[in-house]
Amino acid sequence: MTIEEIKSLLQENGIVGAGGAGFPTYAKLDKRADTLILNCAECEPLLRLHRQLLKQFTHEILSTLHFLSKILEVETVYVGVKGSYKRTVEAVKAELASYDNMKLCTLPEVYPAGDEVVLTYEATGRVVPAGGIPLAVGVTVLNVETVYNVYRALNGLPVTHKYVTVTGEVATPVTLYAPLGMTLQELIDLAGGITTADPAYVIGGPMMGRLGSTAEVVTKTTNAVLVLPKSLPLVQKKLSKTSIDMKRAMAACCQCSYCTSLCPRHLLGHPIDPSAFMYVASNGITNDATPYVDSMFCSSCGLCELYSCGQGLSPRSLLAACKNGLRENGVKPPKDPKMSGVSEARPWRMVPLKRLRSRLGLDPYNQSAPMSEEPVESKKLRIPLSQHIGAPAVAIVKKGDRVEAGQLIATPAENALSVAIHAPMAGTVTDVTARVITITK
Ligand code: SF4
Ligand code: SF4
Repeated sequence: MTIEEIKSLLQENGIVGAGGAGFPTYAKLDKRADTLILNCAECEPLLRLHRQLLKQFTHEILSTLHFLSKILEVETVYVGVKGSYKRTVEAVKAELASYDNMKLCTLPEVYPAGDEVVLTYEATGRVVPAGGIPLAVGVTVLNVETVYNVYRALNGLPVTHKYVTVTGEVATPVTLYAPLGMTLQELIDLAGGITTADPAYVIGGPMMGRLGSTAEVVTKTTNAVLVLPKSLPLVQKKLSKTSIDMKRAMAACCQCSYCTSLCPRHLLGHPIDPSAFMYVASNGITNDATPYVDSMFCSSCGLCELYSCGQGLSPRSLLAACKNGLRENGVKPPKDPKMSGVSEARPWRMVPLKRLRSRLGLDPYNQSAPMSEEPVESKKLRIPLSQHIGAPAVAIVKKGDRVEAGQLIATPAENALSVAIHAPMAGTVTDVTARVITITK
């Protein structure tokens, strides 16, 4: 198979980065890469998906990774797994002997080990330039479920379901294989229901996830649904408004610089300095635009506001507001930003996951969420046409059509970054809008 053939296969089968922003995987494959990394860091507290998936489907995932490495003609493949995922590491070690170019890269139990920039440095010692992607240093990173989806596509099965961990204040934490378009309420019911009187719903991990509602549906990027008490400080942080965050920064930022000292991107030499930003933003200083423009190099990992700042301030949220404002006004990140080199202090400034989990008040929820064997079912699915970065897919079915499970229901937008969408179950199309296709059993 050529690189163009595999790219078409991935686009036609609807494969996007399973988690994160949902970048179409076909567009990530590039022969300029000399290294391929499997990302099984899963560094957000409470997430339980990738380690289970890689342990259960070790052969399927690693053989597919090897297959991709041959098409891309990369020299080295790193399987990045945290050393603490002992059973997954054992399964990987047992399988690795079958391949000539693959190595295990044992990752430390720190946050954010799964950030592609951090992972690339840990595996290869190469520093991705600020504002760049790993390909800039010859690296392609794919996550575990994405490679599993490539395995399925090679066997004629498109993306129709997503593994989702449902945990926190639910009776039976579990990792479900859910059809795209199923409501989060249905997932929570399958996890035994809510066990707190005042729930908040975090979609994704506690650090980078966002608050959502139970009426939302599973998409190709839904990794987890965390049910947490609204009173938890991390939930309150996510509810906070920018204007209040700024007033609090004006009143309480003591310029201790802890936010900068522990910033993972700053430690790799990127020109992001949350402490300098907090100083100019909270004092209204505008004679030097650098700290504002450098907000574009923040990864929004959240360490500064959920861990580092002893005053409980919100550098991440304020940086995000600044970054969004600049983008809306057409400001682009500076080209070739000055890098300061990897900090000598980095090894002892990485944040242990255990301490982070404890600081966030999440220890009571650090529980297993076993993977269910069988896909779960729903009577009605509302399937968004935009589940990925790029142009939405284009519906090719109409109200009243009968569809089969796995049938193509939306094609990639023409001449744009886009992927196809397929029916997760057999049923009747009961509605088609510009954004959603509804299928009812
Ligand atoms: S850690 Fe908090 S108080 Fe210290 S400089 Fe950063 S924002 Fe200000
Ligand atoms: S969110 Fe804070 S700690 Fe994370 S990259 Fe941005 S400034 Fe650094």
